[in-house]
Amino acid sequence: MTEIQREAMEYDVVIVGAGPAGLSAAIRLKQLDADLDVVVLEKGSEVGAHILSGAVLDPVGLDALIPDWKEKGAPLNTPVKEDNFYLLGEEGKVRVPNWPMPPLMNNHGNYIVSMGNVCRWMAEQAEELGVEIFPGMSCSELVYGENGEVKGVVAGVFGLEADGSYGPNTEPGMELHGKYVFLSEGVRGSLSKEVIAKYDLAQDSEPQKFGLGMKEIWEIDPEKHREGTVTHTMGWPLGKNAGGGSFIYHLENNQVYVGFVVHLNYENPHLYPYMEFQRFKHHPMVAELLEGGKRVAYGARAISEGGYQSMPKMVAPGVALLGCSVGMVNVPRIKGNHNAMLSGKAAAEAAHAALAEGRASDELTAYETEVRAGAIGEDLKKVRNVKPLWSKYGLTTSLVAGGLDMWTNTLGFSFFGTVKHGKSDAEATGKAKDHKKIDYPKPDGKLSFDRLTNVSFAATNHEESQPSHLKLKDEKTPVAVDWTEYAGPSQRYCPAGVYEFVTPDEGGEPKFVINFQNCVHCKTCDIKDPAQNIVWTVPQGGDGPNYPNM
Ligand SMILES: Cc1cc2nc3c(=O)[nH]c(=O)nc-3n(C[C@H](O)[C@H](O)[C@H](O)COP(=O)(O)OP(=O)(O)OC[C@H]3O[C@@H](n4cnc5c(N)ncnc54)[C@H](O)[C@@H]3O)c2cc1C
Repeated sequence: MTEIQREAMEYDVVIVGAGPAGLSAAIRLKQLDADLDVVVLEKGSEVGAHILSGAVLDPVGLDALIPDWKEKGAPLNTPVKEDNFYLLGEEGKVRVPNWPMPPLMNNHGNYIVSMGNVCRWMAEQAEELGVEIFPGMSCSELVYGENGEVKGVVAGVFGLEADGSYGPNTEPGMELHGKYVFLSEGVRGSLSKEVIAKYDLAQDSEPQKFGLGMKEIWEIDPEKHREGTVTHTMGWPLGKNAGGGSFIYHLENNQVYVGFVVHLNYENPHLYPYMEFQRFKHHPMVAELLEGGKRVAYGARAISEGGYQSMPKMVAPGVALLGCSVGMVNVPRIKGNHNAMLSGKAAAEAAHAALAEGRASDELTAYETEVRAGAIGEDLKKVRNVKPLWSKYGLTTSLVAGGLDMWTNTLGFSFFGTVKHGKSDAEATGKAKDHKKIDYPKPDGKLSFDRLTNVSFAATNHEESQPSHLKLKDEKTPVAVDWTEYAGPSQRYCPAGVYEFVTPDEGGEPKFVINFQNCVHCKTCDIKDPAQNIVWTVPQGGDGPNYPNM
């Protein structure tokens, strides 16, 4: 095959991903030196199109980055006024009062926001400072320099042939070279995964852990809407089957974010996270709120849950991992946007200092030191045992033990030290024969919806003529292993109905079908597939969901 010729463009810093981490880095770099050449590349059709976050935003990151964000019109319009936490049974609920919660769990001073809109606003701020932002540009490959350092990325490959080869209509994209490359791809970034493996960055950390977050936006009866109210629940319907819980945030315009997170270390391969979410909405407390309303959007995304002990080394020659490419979510607070912003700022400051000294393409160790020893490390360290205690002891015991541990950590010590996570989420999956099937009620079409109907509310799109971006390492494994031993869990864990095992009419072995067009880029398949045979790669730019004000 002839070698592909690509134009190359040179920058000081190349940033992959226009989420809160990447945009914060871009803004900070240009605040520090207006002459720096900074580019941000985003696979979504526009900035915000792939952003799916609750969200209750702790403004600490924005305060540090753009202290006058209010005057500059940042879309933080809904301060949290009321904070509720319930333990649910099938019919009833018990309110856990706020007073025994450690202060870090308090949501007062935070805002209910559309993170998509916050990112759109941050992109405007960045562009005003002179950052080049290219949406609709997927970064599909890393470019390495002569000494093995990361030198840049390949972006903007369009129109591949169906078999993945280059044809007459293929645009080969371009190389964007940077003295430093920042990977701010969010959870389970495909280039970040490559960098972590190539430089063995996770050798001293615990395995990363994840949850699957699914979310709908509802417009509800104005009589029931209570702007600024935040509600979290745990318990029903997951019970002992899996860790997780829900969030219900009342934002502006009679809208409510209704979301559900299922921890991906569940063992029972019959569990169907999407249907757990749908079932949850039939709890009397939730049904009463949503009845008479309408669901206007749906989406899903994995969320990093490993926290402090799962953060890999985050720098290698020429490259730094930012935000949730590292995994910076404070799990009990379900918040990672503030740390994503702080990490972007810290990476920018380290790169700026290095560039000022004439350095390039080396390790930005000052960035890693700041993350671990500064505000991000402090935030994550206090809550580091909550998730592993939950995984080990279940909901009730871990609520008490995790709560106690957060309190003692707030005072500066822990009875538990640092609890290990143990297995990866893929390894945690048990065999089908060892677990009971779960019966899920059929969606009623009013409060609960079948998966494909809901996926149409994610407005996701992938060119059908393109090769599937969901690759199999081995074609036979889905039937030989996933189907035979695990009852085909991809049919259930994918919140977009991408994977199917279709049995022929005449019987016999099923066929594994990948409906990649439905993919919402949540990355759950890459994380949970027990054989680790499914690899999520980046499709061409502009493909994927088109979230409104998620
Ligand atoms: C359901 C759910 C609810 C949440 N609720 C909250 C909350 O209430 N509060 C809170 O603070 N946090 C919340 N979080 C966590 C929060 O979303 C993350 O911590 C945050 O998004 C991390 O920011 P990031 O910039 O690292 O990554 P992201 O926000 O994921 O942004 C990454 C960007 O990079 C782009 N990208 C990825 N790969 C490529 C590539 N190869 N080429 C080009 N572009 C690429 C993506 O399209 C995306 O736009 C929630 C998460 C979920 C899933």
